[in-house]
Amino acid sequence: MKAKHLIFLGPPGTGKGTQAQLLNDKFGWAAMSSGDILRAEVKAESKIGLAAHEYMRTGALVPDDIITGVILAGLERVAAGRGWILDGFPRTVPQAEALAAGLAKWKLPIDGVIYFNLPDATIIERIVTRRVCKECATTYNVRFSPPKAGDRCDRCGGAVIQREDDREEVIVKRLSTYRTQTAPLIEYYERQGLLRSVDASLAPATVHAAALELLARLDASA
Ligand code: AMP
Repeated sequence: MKAKHLIFLGPPGTGKGTQAQLLNDKFGWAAMSSGDILRAEVKAESKIGLAAHEYMRTGALVPDDIITGVILAGLERVAAGRGWILDGFPRTVPQAEALAAGLAKWKLPIDGVIYFNLPDATIIERIVTRRVCKECATTYNVRFSPPKAGDRCDRCGGAVIQREDDREEVIVKRLSTYRTQTAPLIEYYERQGLLRSVDASLAPATVHAAALELLARLDASA
C-alpha cells in the first residue's frame, strides 16, 4: 500500500482513533489525533493547554488559530514520504482552508477523507461506556473491550479513566457542536471529490477491512 495522507471526519465516538491506530500498526503512518494532542497540552499545563481546557471541558471547539498552529507544526515534523492520518482535524471550514494552504506550500496532496457514519443514539451509548488510558491514550470500552486488568492499561499499565468530556451532558453539546461547525466539511470535501464513507456501526475489524478496500481503490484510480 502506498503511503497515504488521510483525514478522518465524523462525530466523536465513531471509532476514528481506533481505525487510525490500526493503520498506524499496519503501515506505520503517523496517527495524529487533535484531541490527544490537546489533552497532552492540558496535562502539561502548557500555554496552549491552559487556553484550550475550558473549551474542551464544556464540549466547545478550541479556537481555530490555536489548533491549526499545533497541527501544522506537527505535520511539518512528520518525515517526508511518510503517511499520516489526521483524526479530529480539521473541524471547521477555516481549519480546512488553513490545512489546504499549509499542504499546498509543502506540495503535499490529501489522498482521501474518510467519513465515519453512525447514528447519534449509538454514538452516545459508545461514548458513555468509553474509557481511556491517562498515560498513552489507548481507548477501551467497558462493555465491548475492557482492559484485561480492570482499570489498568494493557499497553502501558497506566490508569484507565473516563474523560471529563465523555459524560452524557457534555456529549450532547459535542454532538451539537459537530452538527453546526464540523458537518459542513462533509460537503466541502465531497465537492473536492475526496470524500469516502464507512459504516462505523460495524465491528472495528470490519471497519478496518472496509477502510483497506477503500484505500486500495484510491491506489487503483490514481
Ligand atoms: P476529541 O478527542 O477529538 O473528541 O476532541 C476533544 C476536544 O478537543 C473537542 O471537544 C474540542 O474541544 C477539542 N478539539 C479537538 N480537535 C479540535 C479541532 N480540530 N478544533 C477545535 N477543537 C478541537
